[in-house]
Amino acid sequence: MPREKRPEIQFILSVDTEEEFDWGEGFPQQNCSIENIKQIPAFQAFCDQLGVRPTYLIDYPVAQDLQAAAVFRGFVQQGKAEVGAHLHPWCNPPLTEENGEYESHIIHLPGDLIRSKLKVLTDAIYTNIGIAPTCFRTGRWGTDAKVIQALLDAQFLVDSSVIPLYENPYFSFLDSPNQPYWPDLDDPLAEGAQRELLEIPVSSGFTRSNYIFWRKLHKTFSGKRLRHLHLIGLLCRLKLVKKVYLSPELANTSDMKALVGAEIRNKNTVIHMFFHSSSLITSTNGYSQSDSDVVRLYQRIREVVLYLRENANVTFCTISECMKGANKYVDG
Ligand SMILES: [Zn+2]
Repeated sequence: MPREKRPEIQFILSVDTEEEFDWGEGFPQQNCSIENIKQIPAFQAFCDQLGVRPTYLIDYPVAQDLQAAAVFRGFVQQGKAEVGAHLHPWCNPPLTEENGEYESHIIHLPGDLIRSKLKVLTDAIYTNIGIAPTCFRTGRWGTDAKVIQALLDAQFLVDSSVIPLYENPYFSFLDSPNQPYWPDLDDPLAEGAQRELLEIPVSSGFTRSNYIFWRKLHKTFSGKRLRHLHLIGLLCRLKLVKKVYLSPELANTSDMKALVGAEIRNKNTVIHMFFHSSSLITSTNGYSQSDSDVVRLYQRIREVVLYLRENANVTFCTISECMKGANKYVDG
């Protein structure tokens, strides 16, 4: 019997690289604390050992801090990692007086303000780290036609603000693809004709094969009329299927392995894990409340990467490398 061919997988690990703050206490505009960045060299060494090439999506408080910026400048010069941009509108100049939950989602800001904030952010990254970032993620997720146009105007090549299967009162990713796609300029959650900016969503899905089937079922039972039935919750309790986000903050090792297994069986070729840099210290972001949570975060990343290496031929790449290397996306 010929051995079954091992699947080819591109693995991305992206880190929202940002200030630590109490996520339950509003949105700090100034004097942001970036203590967690001191842990980044140790985290990078961990990635080097595993073969992972992380993508640090850096926000303004990190980019404008010379000491922090020097750390990332070194990684970029050594070719170990990519630096992209991450926009927290509440602490990224120009600042506005309105600073509540609503304004924390950049899809709610006027296009000109988004453009101005992006310019300040990319200028800080260029001046202090020495590169023009080509990949981007919004703070708190979410994108729309206005944001995509602002990214194109700022010459970004990849957006990664889509987290499939997630929804909140302001936007819904229940219908999103969970593999890279060229977003339509009017409706960025659907495939379009343009070939200038690629969307590379993070990985979320189900612990069973056939993503489209489970996505439809999940959407049906997430609607107002049937929400009370909590079907996916019920199936999860029966251990039939589970919705999993590929993040060591949100899922344990066995659920992430089950998701990765399903992604491979679904013949998906890009697997994209994500977390926040503030989880590298004991902080108030809700994920790392103790030192053992931090240790567990590292363990989960390691175990999922080792599992992937056992089951596939893995190329470890950054977000922009994934775009450049994936001719099928570039050629459409
Ligand atoms: Zn963020």
